[in-house]
Amino acid sequence: MSERGLLIVLSGPSGVGKGTVRKAIFESEDNDFQYSISMTTRKKRVGEIEGVDYFFRTREEFEALIEAGEMLEYAEYVNNYYGTPLSYVNKTLDEGKDVFLEIEVQGAMQVKEKVPDGVFIFLTPPDLTELKSRILGRGTDDLAVVEKRMRIAREEIEMMSNYDYAVVNDKVEFAVKRIKEIISSEHYRVNRV
Ligand code: 5GP
Repeated sequence: MSERGLLIVLSGPSGVGKGTVRKAIFESEDNDFQYSISMTTRKKRVGEIEGVDYFFRTREEFEALIEAGEMLEYAEYVNNYYGTPLSYVNKTLDEGKDVFLEIEVQGAMQVKEKVPDGVFIFLTPPDLTELKSRILGRGTDDLAVVEKRMRIAREEIEMMSNYDYAVVNDKVEFAVKRIKEIISSEHYRVNRV
């Protein structure tokens, strides 16, 4: 029987650079895990592609999938749903491949309840001031949304102790290297929960 793959969860405050770090991981050649594309009800940003960045759905469609038990986890974040479709994750883990999720913290805690032997990695900003300027620098959100994201981020940072690892995103290439090292050593673990 082939061994089930590892479920790797990268989480942390929005604006910390999770998306950038995740993209850098998947652009590099020496990674051996599968990205689970999330579903969301938020509007597509310029340049985003259906089925690549997200599966973009209406609230009605999303809620029907929740009802049907087809989401591994989901959260409402700044008035939109975000979630992980369950079937892709299960199928891929069953094939013995590792699956990588990049999700916010409420969702990560739901995954921890359901999959306690997952690998939970928290990406942290070097400090909150820098986080605010990064969110502002992105220029896609108005000030009220920035303030709301900051409030959520402070609470999220307090949640770090629920994770197995914390990685500082001081520089993308360093964060990528640290995350790959963590995943690689997790394959040698003997006392998995
Ligand atoms: P954005 O709107 O900037 O793409 O994402 C907002 C937040 O939602 C980010 O923190 C991102 O990591 C998170 N997110 C993306 N996909 C998922 C998902 O499938 N589930 C959960 N819980 N959060 C997600």
